[in-house]
Amino acid sequence: MQRLAKLAIAVLVALVFSLPSRAQSAKLKDLKDIGHRGVGNGLNFYSLEKEIALGKMLSQQVESTSRIIHDPVLNEYINRLAQNLVRHSDAHVPFTVKIIDSKLINAEALPGGFFFVNSGLILAASNEAELAGPMAHEIAHVANRDGTRQMTKAELVNYATLPLWFVGGIGGFIGRTVAGLAVPMTFLKFDRTDERRADFLGLEYMYEAGYDPQAFVRFFQQVEATNKQHPGFIARAFETHPPDKSRIKAAETEIDTVLPPKKQYILDTSEFEQMKARLAELEQEYNMTNPRGPQRPSLRHPQQQSRPPKRPTLKRRPDHNDSSH
Ligand SMILES: [Zn+2]
Repeated sequence: MQRLAKLAIAVLVALVFSLPSRAQSAKLKDLKDIGHRGVGNGLNFYSLEKEIALGKMLSQQVESTSRIIHDPVLNEYINRLAQNLVRHSDAHVPFTVKIIDSKLINAEALPGGFFFVNSGLILAASNEAELAGPMAHEIAHVANRDGTRQMTKAELVNYATLPLWFVGGIGGFIGRTVAGLAVPMTFLKFDRTDERRADFLGLEYMYEAGYDPQAFVRFFQQVEATNKQHPGFIARAFETHPPDKSRIKAAETEIDTVLPPKKQYILDTSEFEQMKARLAELEQEYNMTNPRGPQRPSLRHPQQQSRPPKRPTLKRRPDHNDSSH
């Protein structure tokens, strides 16, 4: 009987996780419903509250092992950029955003909206849209609750392979799972389907926020080229599933079929260039005062004057049906 029950659960797990998610079938008509499309629904042992608690705990681990850049001007900028993307996303958790001093081209959003953007990513992006792309991709993982859904899946698989007397029945098992937050960070390894979906959703979010979605593809290609020259500085978003031809092709198809061309997109802002310069200056200063490499904290700030936010520079995309032609 127990064996049968476990077999049934194993089959159920396989079925539940092989069903196409609603997000995957998101079509043009859904763009106006962003935020109300059921993205992130599905079997999940974690309530949003538990997910936030988990993310908070993990974010403390990240902060204790990384050097966070405490610069109010940069923080305000990156936070504003992220919140603008979040506003145009399906995420239902508040986001806190911090900058990590690291050359690694990476951004990482933990479950529950704890978002870390590496200085390496900001410096590698050649315009604001290129920075927005990987950030939107990470926001999509949070919106789709990929972390806790992966954990749920792993726990169910564990359950199916453990004797029932050991876990005290399914009720006892779920109870223990939800109560115990000490979990390894394995959920950060998403599968190919999760990555593809995060690409698609991320493209929608950056598009809705006004950015040129092509910038995501361009940054993809640029990162790949950089990685060839300086191996090891590749973004996580590109690490699990390298920007191979099929992934780039899929992103391009998404842009062509789901996102109707706009006459204007935000590509760059003068503020982005100022922030990049400020960040480069901060890092240079830090490296000069800490020649032996990263000790613990605080970055000294260059002149701490906050500049008023500038309006974004709108740039036309020459390669799209432009009515001025
Ligand atoms: Zn990803």
